[in-house]
Amino acid sequence: MRLFEAIIDANHRAVAGDASAGLHPADFADNLPVIALTCVDPRLNAFFPNALALPGEQFIWLRNAGNIITGPMSSTMRSLALACAVKGGEEIAIIGHTDCQVAKTTTVALLEKLKSLGVDRSRLPDNLSEFFGTFGSERQNVIKACDFVRSSPLIGPKIPVHGLMLDIETGKLDWVVNGYTALAASVQPTMPKLDFAALGAAGSSKDFEMGEMKFPEMKIGEAAVKPLPSQPPQVRIVGTPVVEAPEATSGQVAQFAEKNWPKVPPPTLPPLKKKSPPPPTIQPRPKFPGKY
Ligand SMILES: [Zn+2]
Repeated sequence: MRLFEAIIDANHRAVAGDASAGLHPADFADNLPVIALTCVDPRLNAFFPNALALPGEQFIWLRNAGNIITGPMSSTMRSLALACAVKGGEEIAIIGHTDCQVAKTTTVALLEKLKSLGVDRSRLPDNLSEFFGTFGSERQNVIKACDFVRSSPLIGPKIPVHGLMLDIETGKLDWVVNGYTALAASVQPTMPKLDFAALGAAGSSKDFEMGEMKFPEMKIGEAAVKPLPSQPPQVRIVGTPVVEAPEATSGQVAQFAEKNWPKVPPPTLPPLKKKSPPPPTIQPRPKFPGKY
């Protein structure tokens, strides 16, 4: 069972009342930490990372209103890319939730609210829905976000990108996009070259310049680089044949890197304890005062 399959299995058992449901993070050390993008809804504070049966130090949490990604080069996308490169995130999950207030807000209502806050309509873009990435379906929003992440040139083809939906009443997690399946389908990526001018016209990456992506050398890289294994990692999908050409190429690259790259000490994450106790079980949501 792969990491998120085990997570969903443990989650479902916990929601069904199994007080011992959980998973052993040490069994998935190669797939941790995970990066999760969720909504800012404060009701979610009580659920994460418990709903995934993960310890806090293996859960990199990004949040924005509506867990929206507006494009393959958007600001949130850049944060996801940095979280992979700098913090060593191994898998990405976009986690929507039921009863999301962003989904319930119409453009007219949003305009009214902004107006009441003193925002001048004439200074806003014409197409507010496109600009903010607002949506009517929580599931469709997660699917769209996964598509953007999967197709983004900022995310390598080896990172699984999952889409999940959290039931805010029960804490139950369900698949929306199985990132392992999508990963298998894109083993041989055929990504089109991005048209930066067109991206600018779409709004979210108007001011993007490659110069912005310069990393301060000898700082970020030191923490992020892991020693390459002697054998290149394989994409293992049950029932899916391994594509030969990319593996052969990556093998040559790995051999060259083994020989020529300076050795970097491994990252200093605390070692995972074998057979560590399961994390706290998932609780039905507490009663939240106030409106959301
Ligand atoms: Zn929400």
